[in-house]
Amino acid sequence: MRREGCDEDNLQMEDFICDYCGSVWTDDRPMVEGHHGNCVCGHCLTVAYTELGLTTRGGDSGGSEGVPEGVKCNLCLEVREESIWSSPVREAYLCRRCAKQSAGVLQKDKDIPWTKPT
Ligand SMILES: [Zn+2]
Ligand SMILES: [Zn+2]
Repeated sequence: MRREGCDEDNLQMEDFICDYCGSVWTDDRPMVEGHHGNCVCGHCLTVAYTELGLTTRGGDSGGSEGVPEGVKCNLCLEVREESIWSSPVREAYLCRRCAKQSAGVLQKDKDIPWTKPT
């Protein structure tokens, strides 16, 4: 999400706040922006990616446990039927597709020292 009262025409790193943990974007905390200015940071993405079973050794389990039905993913704002990850600290959800996509974005960026968890 964007920091309240930020200047949309002159956005700074600290104007980007992770929807899932509330941290701001810093050099060692990369951020991926989804639709509508919603963001997920690299730390949350690592947890989500692992818990959604997207790692190479993970099965196709986890993720959807304990998540109420019909919740929207904060990044794509869609209700997804596939497994969805819920933040432990906020009411925010990340679907499997967005976790995959965001991980791809971070992984590709050479300036960001983030790699997919294995
Ligand atoms: Zn975060
Ligand atoms: Zn999504």
